[in-house]
Amino acid sequence: MSFEQPVDSGKIARFVDIATFMRAPQIDDLARVDIGLFGIPFDLGLAYRPGARHAPAAVREASRVIRRVNPTTGINPFERCQVADVGDVNCHPYDYDAGIDAMTAFVRALRGHGVAPLACGGDHIITLPCLRGLYDGTPFALVQFDSHSDTLDTFYGRRVTHATTIRRAHEEGLIDASRCVQIGLRGSLWDGSDFDYARDAGMRVITYDEYDAMGRDAAIAEIRRVVGSHPCYVTYDIDGLDPVYAPGTAVLEPGGFSMRDSQVILRSMTGLDIVGGDVAEVSPPLDVGGITVTNAANLMFEILCLMAAPRSS
Ligand code: MN
Repeated sequence: MSFEQPVDSGKIARFVDIATFMRAPQIDDLARVDIGLFGIPFDLGLAYRPGARHAPAAVREASRVIRRVNPTTGINPFERCQVADVGDVNCHPYDYDAGIDAMTAFVRALRGHGVAPLACGGDHIITLPCLRGLYDGTPFALVQFDSHSDTLDTFYGRRVTHATTIRRAHEEGLIDASRCVQIGLRGSLWDGSDFDYARDAGMRVITYDEYDAMGRDAAIAEIRRVVGSHPCYVTYDIDGLDPVYAPGTAVLEPGGFSMRDSQVILRSMTGLDIVGGDVAEVSPPLDVGGITVTNAANLMFEILCLMAAPRSS
């Protein structure tokens, strides 16, 4: 079986034509698509520095340089299934709740056609509607790269925000806490109980301190142990990266992952049953020299390779 391929950058210069994610074909007929790359241009939930609504367009531009084969795993997602850019969620610019509902409906429509979703946010609230839309009755495993737990109960009196995403997902039964890993947490805390909800629920919380102490290989083994063969969603909050690698984001938290660590961890997850994912909190107006959007594009490619890879069990 052959699949419609990305634009051949060896024949058509990278800067030519309208950008799609990774120069993948734009396909409207979802019946033909296996993995849908899409944007969620939404940042109405950001209480501090905004701009994530501009990420889908900017990451598409930055992704022009992505080639086809993962240099470590040898996976070519574009040969293994039909990868396509399926557009953006049309998020209402004024109505927060309507935006969330539109995201859920968009992902649900993808699922209805058997399309696995890979989203470019948007602030981190996007993970909740993506999980809602993808949910099929079995709570997902979750691997969350982040500097924050995102398990507050409320934020500014609101229950659905980028700081409460994971808690709501757990309360709604969308994720199986015993199969969830949060890794990289390190931001200064509100009152010291910030990780209690996740830990009490049974999630595996790996703070950056613990990651530093245990080492990368042990962290990889822990992720694989917790997730097992369960259907798993991957969310990468770009503030999980050290600000050196991702200055363009709402909340900078020094002392985080390098891109190299992120690549090695993600590539080492090959064979897990990754059924969807997102990269969130990328803010192009705050970026420096395109480094954040470039890294976001590369993280999307890593997650895409995981989604397209054969399962190990
Ligand atoms: Mn987050």
